[in-house]
Amino acid sequence: MKKQFAVIGLGRFGSSITKALSREGFEVLAIDVNEEKVNQFASIATHAVVADATEENTLKSLGIRNFDHVVVAIGDNIQSSILTTLMLVEQGVNHITVKAQNDYHEKVLLKIGAHKVVHPERDMGIRIAHNIVSKNVLDYLELSDEYSIVELVAGMKVDGRSLIDLDLRAIYECNVMAIKRGEEVNVSPAPKDILYDGDIIIVIGADEDITRMEEELFPDS
Ligand code: ATP
Repeated sequence: MKKQFAVIGLGRFGSSITKALSREGFEVLAIDVNEEKVNQFASIATHAVVADATEENTLKSLGIRNFDHVVVAIGDNIQSSILTTLMLVEQGVNHITVKAQNDYHEKVLLKIGAHKVVHPERDMGIRIAHNIVSKNVLDYLELSDEYSIVELVAGMKVDGRSLIDLDLRAIYECNVMAIKRGEEVNVSPAPKDILYDGDIIIVIGADEDITRMEEELFPDS
């Protein structure tokens, strides 16, 4: 059976999650207190209901505990976001992902039992900052405070050189997870595999090592 999701709060973030999940063919229950927003999702989500998620009985009557994953995308109203999350935890929802407004909000959400907390604006800010700093950095994913995965465009400095020749693991302690060349993706490339100008490489490593490697081997041309 396909996974069933519920999204509470249909602001920009909640809307985008609801649309993406629906497009992927999942069953999505979209919930908002605002009737106008709910109406916009009538033909997108599997069900769209007007409800105040801070009301315990409302959540119960929607059978919220039967959903595989509930996303709380109530943004500005931190009190409602916390109260809703608490109720979902109390009702035993298996996976609860909540959008946090700030670090204090995140701390409280984790303390009361949210399984995952996301900060879309902050995370996107970090990703875009990396892209602005170097145009060879296409994307950036923070794994922890110290480690990241980056997508880099190979330039002339590495053109025609094999991974063993570049020795990224020994010199920068970075590992190449994949090389993309047009439509072709080489996952877990071999040491003898060669990089060409324009290839996209996906690398995992410590932030300071990645930065050093970027500066030395992938400078802006
Ligand atoms: P975004 O940046 O994603 O637009 P936001 O931070 O501006 O989000 P808000 O507009 O504050 O988010 O809230 C998102 C939605 O949550 C709104 O449509 C609002 O009506 C809805 N909402 C707020 N409180 C509740 C609640 N108690 N129950 C259900 N929906 C709620």
